Amino acid sequence: MNVLIANLGSTSFKYRLFHMDEAGQEVLAKGGYERVSDYAAVIDDALATLQKDGVISSADEIDAVGFKTVLGKNLSGCVIADETCVRALEDFAAVAPAHNPPYANGIRQFAMSLPEARLVALFETAFYQWVPESRSTYALPKSWRDIGIRRYGFHGASHKFVAERSAELLGRSDVARGTASLYQNGPADIPGKPLRVVSCHLGGSSSVTGICNGVAIGTSMGFSPQSGLPQNNRVGDLDSGALPYAVKTLGISMEEAERQLTKESGLFGISGISNDIRDVHQAIDEGNADAALALGHLIDSIRHWVGAFAWQMGGLDALVFTAGIGENDHAVRKAVCAGLEEFGLVFDEERNLACRAVEAELSVDSSQVKIFVIPANEELVLAREVFRKISHTN
Ligand code: AMP
Repeated sequence: MNVLIANLGSTSFKYRLFHMDEAGQEVLAKGGYERVSDYAAVIDDALATLQKDGVISSADEIDAVGFKTVLGKNLSGCVIADETCVRALEDFAAVAPAHNPPYANGIRQFAMSLPEARLVALFETAFYQWVPESRSTYALPKSWRDIGIRRYGFHGASHKFVAERSAELLGRSDVARGTASLYQNGPADIPGKPLRVVSCHLGGSSSVTGICNGVAIGTSMGFSPQSGLPQNNRVGDLDSGALPYAVKTLGISMEEAERQLTKESGLFGISGISNDIRDVHQAIDEGNADAALALGHLIDSIRHWVGAFAWQMGGLDALVFTAGIGENDHAVRKAVCAGLEEFGLVFDEERNLACRAVEAELSVDSSQVKIFVIPANEELVLAREVFRKISHTN
């Protein structure tokens, strides 16, 4: 089965074409366009390029297209990307303005350009469908909850991949199998000792998720990706009282406050230097106190959420790092794991220093709690879910 993964931004379109079968996958081609104004034209151009390059002999050879959609109103999971799905995206366009409109338009366009292909959307919220209501509810009046304000969670594809791969690394093929088919079959009944993992997706956008037996039990992100850990330019958790106070005291509009919370906050906001952790480290080396505060705040937030989920699950079997910072930044990993020996985490500094963007174990062999780096590969994760969805529905 040939699966095209379409990554749609507000002015960009990137794609990767996979051949998938039960034995595994192969990347057949990849490409992309920037500064896109006419999606129909670039989609047709991509399909023509794939044929011109001899990757496929006709557009009919694309069996499915996968979309990593963010947030739908009253819709989540790994679903067929039909009109219901497009409307769910449009109904929450105001919550995810950078992501939902391009996906709604892109799905409509692919339905016209590839009428025979199966279109599948994997929502970033999908992994959190089984989080207990007590943990996804905000203590708000009913009228607010009725319009869909609750904790949804994001980065679901990445955290689910960590759930599957960490179970394999820990020799728990029962949990790995159950997680692989989670969106088709729901949570599996897994007897015996539960497998408890905390996954830290640390990148331009970051979140921490608690995972028990391959199923998410809670996550740091909430109603929008504007919550939880500090992000590169986004604030992360903020007391709701701060927003009206800032609007009144600084004399700014709600729109301007929103812009500053999304574009001028996070690592960039505290450091005043950059939204990239590499620049923040360099500024710290040069003695910049604001940069040190930004890094300290990030590490404290990660530890806060890791601790919360380990406590909820009654302990921990593995702590996993993934995404740009998690895979590359040995200083952040070391600070997150510092002084936790009493909780069974014994960190190996040499393994940590040697690990850059590869799968690795960072704990000493005798550590009761394992510490891993598991590189993220969002396109592959998506292709696998699309393949599972189509194979299951055929
Ligand atoms: P992602 O969103 O997963 O692509 O991660 C992007 C972020 O990862 C960047 O903003 C950097 O802060 C961080 N990053 C990427 N490469 C490195 C690296 N080699 N060392 C440290 N941080 C990195």
